[in-house]
Amino acid sequence: EQSRVRNKDKSDKATVDQVLDPRTLGILKKWLKNNTLTEIFGSVSTGKEANVYYAYRKPMELPEISEAEELKPIAHAATKKEKRDYKKIMKMKHEEKEAKASINFDHEKEFAVKIFKTTVLVFRDRERYIEGEHRFRNSKFKNNPFKMVKQWAEKEMRNLKRLKAANLCVPEPYLLKNNIIVMEFIGNNGNAAPRLKDAGLTEEENILAYFNVLKLMRKMLQDCNLVHGDLSEYNMLYFKDQLYIIDVSQSVELDHPMALDFLRRDCVNINDYFDKQNIQTLTTEKAFDFITDTKISSKDMDFTLKAILEQNEEEIKSMTFEERRKREMDDKVFQQMYIPRNLQLMSFEDIDKLNQNQAPDVFIGKTGDSSAPIVTREFQGIGTSLKQTLQEEAEGEETEEAE
Ligand code: ADP
Ligand code: MG
Repeated sequence: EQSRVRNKDKSDKATVDQVLDPRTLGILKKWLKNNTLTEIFGSVSTGKEANVYYAYRKPMELPEISEAEELKPIAHAATKKEKRDYKKIMKMKHEEKEAKASINFDHEKEFAVKIFKTTVLVFRDRERYIEGEHRFRNSKFKNNPFKMVKQWAEKEMRNLKRLKAANLCVPEPYLLKNNIIVMEFIGNNGNAAPRLKDAGLTEEENILAYFNVLKLMRKMLQDCNLVHGDLSEYNMLYFKDQLYIIDVSQSVELDHPMALDFLRRDCVNINDYFDKQNIQTLTTEKAFDFITDTKISSKDMDFTLKAILEQNEEEIKSMTFEERRKREMDDKVFQQMYIPRNLQLMSFEDIDKLNQNQAPDVFIGKTGDSSAPIVTREFQGIGTSLKQTLQEEAEGEETEEAE
């Protein structure tokens, strides 16, 4: 029988073989056999950690059998051939029913099949996303690559579900098995939607896209308690005037010790990209504040963001060349600033010190420490005092060692 796992061309084959270890291949073959998927094609994308394939499902065309006939015992069928056919059809019906149960639809549908690679090397880098996140805290699988990738797939599935449930634009996830996720295909007739980077947006569309990305990031945090962690023009697809967020296996919850650092980095990536498209972006700090500010209600979100962006534009317009340069420099400082994470970890003396623009003890010698403490929302404005503190330090004061 001819394999339905096709390759676009020969050069693709090596990669396909590398990803599709026997276990993975076994699962795909089973899905093809029971028509969970009708056909799987060569990869849409081959990445470091995962490959994405295009697949579709066509419901089987089965001969109509009436209820009464279905109930008719096989023994009553007249000839051997009739018996055989009958058995075959019933088996197909059963399999079709199974497939429908596993993916809940009747009509023809396209899918993206994301397969996480079972090679070890790339997972080193990922450990820091897992460490400290409570959903993974007791991970027993650190040294088992197969179980590791399974965890990544599970995590992506869970995050996609959570985002979809909150009505964010993400591919709807359908099926998870080991290292494989079957999800909604963003695109049409086998043509995947372009990544934001390749979407060739007009200025007007870019302005709207920037607005929407900030909203997406905010909703992701406020409604889903998640920070993407790898957000960029490469991990958003543009389809039917909508931005879709993808690639959420590394996304972390807010209680992850690095969550706010990841969020800030996401802000930097997004701003950098839209800067390059000549869009008037917010500073990293303003974007970060909009996303994290719990005082903005979801009802006021659009209105507030619009006001923030308009004010930003006005400000930039009225700035001298030097003032713009200073704005950029200040932003660089914010980008490197230590993000405090937890007021509990700061003593009252520390907060007093902060308010007097002195470095609090909790910061000294701890910059970049991943067990860093956390910002709470009441502490808006911390950025400004801290920035000053850091600037003063940079102007020559020696940092004291913490005891
Ligand atoms: P990676 O970890 O390799 O970056 P991604 O989830 O970002 O994995 O997927 C890689 C690429 O595959 C994307 O840039 C996109 O082009 C394509 N892709 C991923 N998911 C989908 C989808 N649901 N629909 C269409 N294309 C997709
Ligand atoms: Mg990606």
